[in-house]
Amino acid sequence: MPFKELVLASHNAGKLKELQAMLGASVRVRSLAEFSEVEPEETGLSFVENAILKARNAARVSGLPALADDSGLAVDFLGGAPGIYSARYADGQGDAANNAKLLHVLKDVPDAERGAQFVCCLALLRHADDPLPILCEGLWHGRILHAAQGVQGFGYDPLFWVPERDCSSAELPPAEKNQLSHRARAMALLKQRLGLA
Ligand code: IMP
Repeated sequence: MPFKELVLASHNAGKLKELQAMLGASVRVRSLAEFSEVEPEETGLSFVENAILKARNAARVSGLPALADDSGLAVDFLGGAPGIYSARYADGQGDAANNAKLLHVLKDVPDAERGAQFVCCLALLRHADDPLPILCEGLWHGRILHAAQGVQGFGYDPLFWVPERDCSSAELPPAEKNQLSHRARAMALLKQRLGLA
């Protein structure tokens, strides 16, 4: 491991815990909240741009190497929407409203055209001016259901059909989702890049 600590470009304590567990004890993961009360505006037009922007800000305010993640759902029929706007697809009204909107816009779309992927992009900058970020992308391919199924997980999980398990991602036990998901795939790549796998 090239460094002993890094800052996670997020105020989310749950994300920090998950990431610390995935990276193991050889690196200490610190929260952006220790260094700044605000998170930067996500002005990029792609997952990778937003991940870099968040990591660069965190490296700048902390003086530490910084890791950021950006994730969401990209639906083929919608040209990749809701994409980077996944969390606020229904204008900030929350997960239930986001899901209702997605079902509505795909109302008459047949199964064969309902392909989608969850996307997770991780960006690691060794310092704020690092011109060569480590970028790792995880994709989880599936299909959008016609109605919600399952109660586990969060966000679009009840609408995301997982072909390799024949159920929605909200029907998967969390431990199983954490092995298959876009986040797990991106993290596995990052661990390889850092020599931790
Ligand atoms: P965040 O950037 O990780 O907070 O995720 C952005 C948004 O993408 C979330 O608010 C969800 O709407 C969606 N999303 C990302 N990952 C998942 C997932 O694993 N399941 C369901 N929805 C997700």
